[in-house]
Amino acid sequence: MKLRAREVRDCGPLDLEETVPVETMFSALPDRPSLLAPIHLNVHAEAVDDEILALIKAETRVALECSRCLEPFERPLKATVTLHAPFEVEEVEVGEQARQSLLLALPLKPLCRPDCKGLCDRCGKNRNSGPCGCAKEPAESPFNKLKDLKINK
Ligand SMILES: [Zn+2]
Ligand SMILES: [Zn+2]
Repeated sequence: MKLRAREVRDCGPLDLEETVPVETMFSALPDRPSLLAPIHLNVHAEAVDDEILALIKAETRVALECSRCLEPFERPLKATVTLHAPFEVEEVEVGEQARQSLLLALPLKPLCRPDCKGLCDRCGKNRNSGPCGCAKEPAESPFNKLKDLKINK
């Protein structure tokens, strides 16, 4: 998606909207995120002092896997980025900025919900669907093992 900087200079603030297919924007990435909807771009551009300022909003949906319970889930993925371009340029490419900001908006440790209880580390049951019945025991500590050690002289 290109922004015609000349139009912004000559005609004043400009608003653009475009919906870009996922393959168009992310085709070059081998491990691209699994986006579930075309990317909706909304750009507001205006000339401020001696540069072109563009506010880019990108929105789509992404499929993720919860880092605690490993269940797949979907959520909206939104990113906003401001782009500064020299006043003289003919065109400003906003697609690449939008692409990068969406990648940055991906959570490093996605959670299906903020209070996800995760998997039991003993039996592996998803604790979001109820308690698993494992006895609650204090976490294993290296000192517990030391206690059992018998030193034979
Ligand atoms: Zn989860
Ligand atoms: Zn358990």
